[in-house]
Amino acid sequence: MSTGQISIKEVHCLMEMLRSIDVGLILIDKDYKVSLWNNFMENHSGIKSSEINGQNIIDFVPDESRDWLLKKLVTVTTLMTRAFSTWEQQPYLFRFGSYHPITGIAEHMYQNISFIPIPSTDGKLDQIGLIIYDVTDIAINKKQLLSANKELSLISRTDALTQLHNRGYWEERIAQEFQRYQRTRQTCSLLMFDIDHFKKVNDTYGHQAGDEVIRMTALNIKNIIRKTDIAGRYGGEEFAVILVDTNAENAMTVAEKLRTGIESLRVPCNGTEIRWTISVGIAECSTDISNYATWIELSDQALYQAKENGRNNCVVYQPAKPSKRRTG
Ligand code: GH3
Ligand code: MG
Ligand code: MG
Repeated sequence: MSTGQISIKEVHCLMEMLRSIDVGLILIDKDYKVSLWNNFMENHSGIKSSEINGQNIIDFVPDESRDWLLKKLVTVTTLMTRAFSTWEQQPYLFRFGSYHPITGIAEHMYQNISFIPIPSTDGKLDQIGLIIYDVTDIAINKKQLLSANKELSLISRTDALTQLHNRGYWEERIAQEFQRYQRTRQTCSLLMFDIDHFKKVNDTYGHQAGDEVIRMTALNIKNIIRKTDIAGRYGGEEFAVILVDTNAENAMTVAEKLRTGIESLRVPCNGTEIRWTISVGIAECSTDISNYATWIELSDQALYQAKENGRNNCVVYQPAKPSKRRTG
């Protein structure tokens, strides 16, 4: 065998290896006509190389990948540079089935694809090589990780008993809403409410029945508020709802709806029915409020007033009128 020169036998061996390698190999000319279609491509597509050789590859590509492939080929042809595409940019060129025994949940094979311009001896573009890698395992792992993270993040924000926002996440939301108010001055109200004499519910009917009362209270909130409102479990039997785009007057209407709705609920327990009520404090956001903690504090003051008034009622926080200064 001569040194520095590749013999026919070596070319033959190389071609055989390329044909049977476990990635897809395609060669096309400037008119996109196929001149190489290896075993990987044959096995996954069901198209024999004898059927596709000499044909325009575009005619074999599925509709969903056609425009994308044309754009890529134009770029590679005009710039004469390599291009690479990941499954995240384009899930596949040809829609192949997925034969992964472990990650068999993929609907199709995910593919990373390299485009390699191959010049002729005069330096002009002669052919374009496409290498197709099966990255289904990587794609599925990443997708599963993303969905697990999403679920985890939802769990970490959700109160297990009521499925409302938990206190930590709800506080993040009120901080955002307060900032939004400062930017837009778009009216917004806060409801804080607390179940009346809840200790008695626990003492009389037991903790589990108490839990059911909390759950039913939360369900009632979800049924009454709008999708854009932000409800959270603030403490044991305390709830907080941010009513966006709502002034104190309209917030009072919502609060009354909640109060009367909850008043009419019943939880069956040991042959009897538990009834309960809530007291509600309402505070509309205003320019006098310097941070969201103060906003909470004001609605809490209104809630305290509602308890003082005898419970089972709603109170709007009224800022104290400025006292007149003495003039002399
Ligand atoms: P008030 O009308 O003044 O609000 O009286 P109250 O009895 O409701 O008083 P308070 O708010 O201080 O009591 C709350 C009780 O709620 C105390 C606690 O044992 C109970 N609690 C807190 N979290 C839970 C829970 O998750 N489940 C149950 N069943 N009880 C809870
Ligand atoms: Mg309480
Ligand atoms: Mg209470």
